[in-house]
Amino acid sequence: MMGDRDFRTIIQNALGSIGRELELEIDSKNFQNIHLQEVVQCLRRSYFDRIDPVEIERRGFNELLSGLLRKLEYGSEPKEFEIEDIKLKGQTDMIVDDIIILFRSAQSELENPLANDVLYLNACLWIYDKTEGIVVYITGDRKETTFSLTRNKKMFEEVIRRVRVLNNLLKEQKAPILEPSLECSECQYYEKCFMKKKNSKQLDLGEMLGMGKFLKDDKD
Ligand code: SF4
Repeated sequence: MMGDRDFRTIIQNALGSIGRELELEIDSKNFQNIHLQEVVQCLRRSYFDRIDPVEIERRGFNELLSGLLRKLEYGSEPKEFEIEDIKLKGQTDMIVDDIIILFRSAQSELENPLANDVLYLNACLWIYDKTEGIVVYITGDRKETTFSLTRNKKMFEEVIRRVRVLNNLLKEQKAPILEPSLECSECQYYEKCFMKKKNSKQLDLGEMLGMGKFLKDDKD
């Protein structure tokens, strides 16, 4: 807080507004249209996003990278893949020389691509009917790591299975089971799935060991 202005809240509100602008447009009532992003992340999260949504808190501009590129439509118009009467909607960030390219932000350089990004990239290869793709991770200090992928049918069949599961559960109004993963710690539905988050009081080790008193006594 500087003066009587709370800059942290102002910045958070600004990020929230940009984030809403860049969010995928999902018609939450139309269960026959499923977006690829909904099935590569936790299905339970996607279900709550449609049925009982809670806004996510955004932490920085880095997170908005993919949304910005999608909005600019660098040769990558959204596409649909029909699974009987369900439409799976996907959108890649870029297509260059027939290669599908995704850009993702990362906290640090990665050894392997994230599983949900691999599922997303592979599904895009089938939706856009391409054979090769890459995912580029960019860290806050502008380091890049790139992974390439050749399309894989079994992995796409898993995505199709998840599309059917989400479609059925939405129609039956039944929340999918928990999918515990690293995603949970950042998820806005954590308390719904697990427990209330508690802000435990930070322990002062010095005080615990009696050093606080010692130092104070020393100064006197
Ligand atoms: S907390 Fe985990 S299991 Fe629950 S909705 Fe979020 S990602 Fe899914």
